[in-house]
Amino acid sequence: MTTARPDSVAEKYDAIIRELEEIEARDLLRKPRLIEGPIGPHVTIDGRDTLLLCTNDYLGLTNHPAVKRAAHEAIDSYGAGAGASRLVAGTLSIHEELETALARLKGTETAIAFGSGYLANVGTVSALMRRGDVIYSDELNHASIIDACRLSRATVRIFPHKDTHALEKMLRDDPNFRRRLIVTDGVFSMDGDIAPLPELVRLASEFDCYLMVDDAHATGVVGPQGRGTAAHFGLEGQVDIQMGTLSKALGSYGAFVAGARGLIDYLVNRARSFIFTTALPPASAGAALEALRVLEREPHRRERLWKNAEMLKAGLRSRGFELGMSETFIIPVIIGGARECLAMAETLLENGVFAQAIRPPSVPEGASRLRVVPTGEHNMDDMEFALEAFNRAGKKCGVV
Ligand SMILES: *Cc1c(COP(=O)(O)O)cnc(C)c1O
Repeated sequence: MTTARPDSVAEKYDAIIRELEEIEARDLLRKPRLIEGPIGPHVTIDGRDTLLLCTNDYLGLTNHPAVKRAAHEAIDSYGAGAGASRLVAGTLSIHEELETALARLKGTETAIAFGSGYLANVGTVSALMRRGDVIYSDELNHASIIDACRLSRATVRIFPHKDTHALEKMLRDDPNFRRRLIVTDGVFSMDGDIAPLPELVRLASEFDCYLMVDDAHATGVVGPQGRGTAAHFGLEGQVDIQMGTLSKALGSYGAFVAGARGLIDYLVNRARSFIFTTALPPASAGAALEALRVLEREPHRRERLWKNAEMLKAGLRSRGFELGMSETFIIPVIIGGARECLAMAETLLENGVFAQAIRPPSVPEGASRLRVVPTGEHNMDDMEFALEAFNRAGKKCGVV
C-alpha cells in the first residue's frame, strides 16, 4: 500500500528524476549489469555464458580455491567483522601479518591497510596536505585522487597527462608553498599507460616534493613478482608513498599505503579514513594474504595475463580498432561518442562478450571507449572468440 506524498516531497524527487532523465538523454545513464554467479573468465548474463573482458580480477584470484579457503579460515579464526576501528579496539594479528607481507612486497619499512583504495587515497592525501600546500596531479588521475585533493584544501595544479616538461615548469614557477606533493596513477585505469616514474622521481627530488603513486592497477601484475610500478622501473625505495589495492589483482577488498615508518605512523594518527572507520574485515585480509602467496607460487597467471593482452592488442589493431596508448593489459578500444560506445557494447554482448562502455565523466567528452581487459585465466580460444566478436560488432556498428 502506498500513501500520497506531500507535494514538497514529490517536487524534491521530481528534480532529481529530471536530472537522471537528462543524463539518460545524453546516453550517460549507468546501470550495473546483473551477473548470475561467480566472476571468472566466463560469467552468466541473462542466463547465457558470456566471455568476461572487464573485470579487475586480473589474475583470477577472486575464485582461487586457496584464496577462498584463506577467507573462510580467517572468518573461523577472527570472526565476520573487525568489530571497530583499530585505534578503538586494536589491531588483529591478521592485519599485522598482512601489513608485514605488503611491506615485503613493496620493499618498504612498513605498510598500513585501509578499508578501500578510495579511502586510502582520500585519507593519505588529506592527512599530508592542507591549505598552504600544493599538489601536482596528472590530469588522468583516478577520481579518488581528485576527491582526495579537494578534501585536503591544498592548492591543486593539474598537469597535462604524463607531461613532465609542463610539470617541471609548474614546479619552477610556483611561489613557496609549505609542502609539495606530486601524485600519479602508476598504471592509468582507463588508458592502460604507465606513469613516467623515472622523471617524476627526479623532479620530486630536485624540487623537494613528496611523490605518491597509486598502484591500484599495478599491484600484483606489474614489475618483477608483481611488485608494482616503482619495481618495474627499478626505483624501489625512491617513491615516498606507494598506495595499492587488495581489490584488483589480489582478488579481495581493501587497500594499503607502503612507505617509511615515519610516514605510516603519521597516517595512523592523521588519516581520518583510517581513524574513523572500521578495520578491514578478517576475510578480506586473509584472502589478500593468501593472494600474495599465490603471486609467488603461480607466476604463470601473470605471464598469461600479459600474453593474452598482447594477443588481444595485436588482433584488435589488425582488425582496424583504435587502441589509444596502452602499455599494459588495460586495453582502451576508443569509440568516441557515448551512444556509439553503448551500441558497440550491446552488440558485443549479443555476440557473447561483456566489455564495459566507459563514458564521461570517467573519460573526457568524445573519448568514450570499451575498456577491454583479459585475465590470466583466459586461454587462446577465449582471445580468438573475443576477436571474432569484436570483428562482427565493429562492422555492424560501423566502428571499423
Ligand atoms: C580502483 C581504483 C581505486 C580505488 O580502489 P578501491 O579499492 O576499489 O576503492 C583507486 N585508484 C585507482 C587508480 C583505481 O583504479
